[in-house]
Amino acid sequence: MEKLTVLLDVQKIDNELDQLRYRHEHLPERALLVELAEQRAKLDGAAAKTEAQRDTLRTQQRQIENDAGDIEEKAATLDAKLYDGSVTSPKETSALGEEIASLKSQQSEKEDAAIELLMEIEPLDEQLVQAEAARGEMEAKRVELQSALDADAADLDDQIAAAEANRAEAAAKLDEATLINYGKLRITYGPDAVIQFDAGKGGGCPVAMSAVELDRWKHLPAGTLEPCTDCGRLVAKLD
Ligand SMILES: [Zn+2]
Repeated sequence: MEKLTVLLDVQKIDNELDQLRYRHEHLPERALLVELAEQRAKLDGAAAKTEAQRDTLRTQQRQIENDAGDIEEKAATLDAKLYDGSVTSPKETSALGEEIASLKSQQSEKEDAAIELLMEIEPLDEQLVQAEAARGEMEAKRVELQSALDADAADLDDQIAAAEANRAEAAAKLDEATLINYGKLRITYGPDAVIQFDAGKGGGCPVAMSAVELDRWKHLPAGTLEPCTDCGRLVAKLD
């Protein structure tokens, strides 16, 4: 009789182990971490685009500022020439004056263009600051989730180890042939490979015994362990 209850115990522990392993595999933090990693990848992709755009504009802006500086220098040189007494003819003075005025106008145009670029760069810089802040928040969330996952997984690992120890202890009380037979039936029938006979509930079988099979079992002695001839599951008659 002990063999029957032990076999039912082994099955019960195996079912618990299956549930514990399923829970371990499907801890909600795992899906949340995947989701977070996807959000993070999206953010990084968008930020990289913004950064590339900002850098291009920054390069253009610096180039234009350099150009403005060159023009300013050139105008200053001509301006000095205008007043150092080397130019004496009114015609030449006038031409020089016009050239300086033209350079100053070019310089002013360049400076305006550089300011416009700066105004385009500013919101991109702001976006990048925001992306960095969002990245920080995501990283904090990731650390939090990972630590929750580790804790939950460790808790389940402990429960699994305890159940495995119980299983080994119970299985040691059974003979090899019974365990092998049970193992095969479990592959076919899953969590109820072995059923406890129950006269009131279709024999206790998930597919309810036929009247003939039920009657046969009612007349078998307590302690019988044999297959249900209807479905093939192993039936244990405890009393
Ligand atoms: Zn059956």
